[in-house]
Amino acid sequence: MSKDNRVVQGRMVTPESLAELVEGEPVMDAEAIEDADRSCPDCDGSVVRVGYMPSVTAFVTGYKCQDCDWSETEER
Ligand SMILES: [Zn+2]
Repeated sequence: MSKDNRVVQGRMVTPESLAELVEGEPVMDAEAIEDADRSCPDCDGSVVRVGYMPSVTAFVTGYKCQDCDWSETEER
C-alpha cells in the first residue's frame, strides 16, 4: 500500500480516485494527497487536499472531508 493512499469516508483512495471523487469524473493526472490546513465546515472532520488536472489546460486543488460528503475545488 502506498503512503499516498488515505481513508476517505471509510474507503481507501489513491490521489487519482480522490480527485475523481471531488471532480465527479476521471482526471488526467493527480499529485500526492496532503493534509489540508483546515477542518470540514459541515462536520469539523479532517480535510485532505489533492492537486489534479481535470484537463490539459487546467490545474485544480480539490479539498475533501475524510468523514462526510463535503468537498470543494479551487482553481490554481
Ligand atoms: Zn465533513
